[in-house]
Amino acid sequence: MLLDVSPIIKIQGAKIELDEEIGLDSAEFLGESYRFNEPLKIKGEIYNNGQSLTLNARVTGRIKTECARCLAPTEADVELDIHELLSRAEDAAADDEDFILFDGHEIELDGIVADNFLMNTSGKYLCREDCAGLCPVCGKNLNEGECGCGNDYIDPRWLALKDILDRESGDE
Ligand SMILES: [Zn+2]
Ligand SMILES: [Zn+2]
Repeated sequence: MLLDVSPIIKIQGAKIELDEEIGLDSAEFLGESYRFNEPLKIKGEIYNNGQSLTLNARVTGRIKTECARCLAPTEADVELDIHELLSRAEDAAADDEDFILFDGHEIELDGIVADNFLMNTSGKYLCREDCAGLCPVCGKNLNEGECGCGNDYIDPRWLALKDILDRESGDE
């Protein structure tokens, strides 16, 4: 959503209370996918600090993603704080990385929320704390039971040797 900041842009100390819902598109980031099936809530304020605009807000909501171990669909709570400085492009030094630049008198909140979410997310959501994950050999979901490869997974290079040892011990 676009936030019109014209009421505060020329008045030092003026502020806008934020209490909005932000609907975001699905995002892919570092190989993880996130779906925002319901809008995230953003609550906070944006005020004119005399030189630029300060955005302080808390974002909450729920996302759908995949378990980092077993890839099962997983829901997770989102809770993050946003602290950003925003400046009109024409007012800021062009190379100043401390500021998010905007044109005119509207701020695009969606992008700010999405960027903050992606920067803050661990990317390591689990379907449950003790998720057993997938077997590295056969790919079976170990939450559903043992697969047979089990814990005595042996490097294929050692299998030939194991065969010999098994045969020998079988002879005794
Ligand atoms: Zn899992
Ligand atoms: Zn297995």
